[in-house]
Amino acid sequence: MRNYRAPDRSQKHIITRLLMLLPFCVATAAAGDINDAVKNIVAGSAPELIATFKQFHQNPELGFQEFETAATIAAHFEKLGYAVTTGVGGTGVVSVLENGPGPVVLFRSDMDALPVEELVDVGYASTKIVEDLAGVTVPLMHACGHDGHSAWLMGVAEVMMTLKDRWSGTLILVAQPAEELLSGAHAMVADAILDLVPEPGYLIAGHQMPFWPVGSVALTHGYRMAGSIQMDVVLRGKGGHGSSPHLAIDPVVMGSQAVMAYQTIVSRLVDQSKPAVLTIGSFQAGLANNVIPDSATLKLNLRWYDPAVKDGMLDGIKAVTDNVASMYSVAADDMPTYTIKSDVPPVFNDQALTQRAAAAMKNMLGDDRVLVAGDPYMGSEDFHMLAGKDSSASVLMVEVGSGPPDVLAQMKAGNFPAFPHNPNFYMEPEAVLYGARALSAVLLDIMGKGQPDQ
Ligand SMILES: [Zn+2]
Ligand SMILES: [Zn+2]
Repeated sequence: MRNYRAPDRSQKHIITRLLMLLPFCVATAAAGDINDAVKNIVAGSAPELIATFKQFHQNPELGFQEFETAATIAAHFEKLGYAVTTGVGGTGVVSVLENGPGPVVLFRSDMDALPVEELVDVGYASTKIVEDLAGVTVPLMHACGHDGHSAWLMGVAEVMMTLKDRWSGTLILVAQPAEELLSGAHAMVADAILDLVPEPGYLIAGHQMPFWPVGSVALTHGYRMAGSIQMDVVLRGKGGHGSSPHLAIDPVVMGSQAVMAYQTIVSRLVDQSKPAVLTIGSFQAGLANNVIPDSATLKLNLRWYDPAVKDGMLDGIKAVTDNVASMYSVAADDMPTYTIKSDVPPVFNDQALTQRAAAAMKNMLGDDRVLVAGDPYMGSEDFHMLAGKDSSASVLMVEVGSGPPDVLAQMKAGNFPAFPHNPNFYMEPEAVLYGARALSAVLLDIMGKGQPDQ
C-alpha cells in the first residue's frame, strides 16, 4: 500500500500549470477537430464543387433570370435534407435549418452574371448571348465571380448539414438574384422573405477578390462598400427633322450638356474629404441620323459613404438637369423626370464580428492567410438589406482571395489582375473550396456549441 505524499512546491506548480492549460488544450483540440472535419467535407465534395462552378461559369444568367443556377442550388439543398423555398423575389432560393437554441445567422450568396463578352481563354469560358429584360441582345459573363459564390454556398450547405450536431441555432441560407442590379435583396424583402425566416442576428456574405491570393481571405471592420443609387434621368424635348433644329428641342444636346455639368457636382459641390462617384453608364437617344428624337435617357450610378454626400449629389443632379431644360424652354409638363431604381446604404462590418471571424478563419486557414483588407471600396452590395431596413443585425462581408498565389508580388511589380466586371476577369477555381472552408468556419464559430451566445 502506498502512502499519499503531498507534491512538493515545484510539482504543485507544474500540476497547476497543466490544469490551467487543460481547458485551452481541449478547446484547441475541439477547434482543430472541427476544422479537420470541415476540410474533409470540402475536400470530399471538391470535384463536384469545382465542376459546378465551371458549369455556372459557362452558363451565366442575368439578374432575375437565374433559373438554372437557382434550380441547381435548390436541388443540392434538397438532396442534403434542407427544406427549400424557391422563387423568392423572382429566382431567390431560401432554406432555413432550425437546429436548437442559439443565434439566427443568414448566409447569402448572389447568383447573377453581367452583360460582358468574355475574353478569358479557359475551356469553360462563356459564349452565351441572351435577351435581357428590356429585350436587348447581350453577351453574358460571370465577370464578378458570383458563379464562385453560388458554388461555395453549396459547399457551406453541405458542411453545416453534415456537422449539425456540432452547432446550435438557426441557419438561413440564401441564394439571391440580381445583386448587380442592386435590387435582388429588395425584391426578396418585397416578396416577404421575412415571413419565411426568423429575424437574423447576423448577416454574412463573402465576395471573391482577385487582388488577394487564392487560399487567403481579407477583412476589416468598419465601412467596406459604398452606398449606391441607380437612377434614370429622362430629358424630354421636341422631336423634329434633322435639317431644322430650330423647330425642335434637341434632347441629345440637352443630355450632353447635363452630362458635362454633372462632372462639376463631384468636383465642386461635394466635400472633397468625402468619397463620391457619379457615373453615367448609358446615354440613350434616337434611332436615325436625320431625326431629332423626342427624349434622351441617362442612366446614372451614384456612390457615397456619407448620406450628406448622397443628398448633395441628388440635389445637384436635379438642379443641373432642370436648369438645362429651362435653358431650352422645355414646357412645364415636359420637365425632366428622375426614377430611382435602387438605393442601398454602405456596408459596415461589425467590429466584434470581424474580430471573431478573423480568429476562426485563422484557425481554419492559418494565421498568414487571413489578411487585413485595405481602404474601403466604392463597389457596393445589397445583402445587408435582406433583413429589412430596420434590422440591427451584425453585418460581415469577407473578401475571399481568387487571384493567383503570387498576386501580391505581381502587383508590387505593377502587374494587376483584371478588375471584376472586366472581360478579362479570372477567378482561380480553388477559391471556391477556400471560400467554403473559411465561411463555414465563420458560421461554426458563431453557432458552435459552447459559444457564449448559446
Ligand atoms: Zn459581385
Ligand atoms: Zn459585380
